[in-house]
Amino acid sequence: MIALNYEVKHIGKNKFSRPCYKLLPVKAYVVHYTANHGGTADNHFAYFNNLSGRYASAHIFVDRHKALEIIPLNEVAFHANERKVGPLIHSLKATAAYYPGGNANLNSIGIEMCMEKDGTIHPDTIKRTILVIQKLYKQFGVLPIYRHYDITGKKCPLPFVTDSKQWTKFLADVQKEEDEMQFSSPSLKAETELTLNSKARREIIVNAAVKAGAHESWRQKLKEGTITDADLLGLAAKYIVDTNK
Ligand SMILES: [Zn+2]
Repeated sequence: MIALNYEVKHIGKNKFSRPCYKLLPVKAYVVHYTANHGGTADNHFAYFNNLSGRYASAHIFVDRHKALEIIPLNEVAFHANERKVGPLIHSLKATAAYYPGGNANLNSIGIEMCMEKDGTIHPDTIKRTILVIQKLYKQFGVLPIYRHYDITGKKCPLPFVTDSKQWTKFLADVQKEEDEMQFSSPSLKAETELTLNSKARREIIVNAAVKAGAHESWRQKLKEGTITDADLLGLAAKYIVDTNK
């Protein structure tokens, strides 16, 4: 298990990389890669802090050692708007008086995976990017995750475009790790148990369990109100794979 090592060090205001435009409510997370051989998160901080002559940036840079937030998460970064006709994902066609045009940069957070010298993305970098998205889930909610490629057609992150199985696995791992995190978090476990107490929740569990093969008499117990939390947890564990959905 690797550590998140999330650092915050914002670049200065810069019209090419940090225009200080307000970010609209976040609708998606966009994953990129730097396409820059051997460039670390710190290298990219320095690069975007001094950027001039072209518009580019992203909120968070992830390398094999840490994650570095270089643009505040309530501001726009220039990471997914090189397509003149606007984003391919309709829900990301945002617009604002200060930044008109229908633009995914206005309502998404851009995360860059740093590339190794040999052009690959280190497994720790990928793993850490998953942790970053899980952190963002807690801050902004469980939102769609897109490749830059999905939004504008740019081949970014290239390894996730040339081999879409890697991308599918990445998405599954975000979910998988998220599930593991839920089990390891006492507060979330308590929340899940609390939801078992609602009447509707009890009905859902019993009906699903009976449908999956549990005895009909559980329905009677539910009706009589003699069913216990232990019964419900037992039914859920035995007949329902995921009680949290
Ligand atoms: Zn990109």
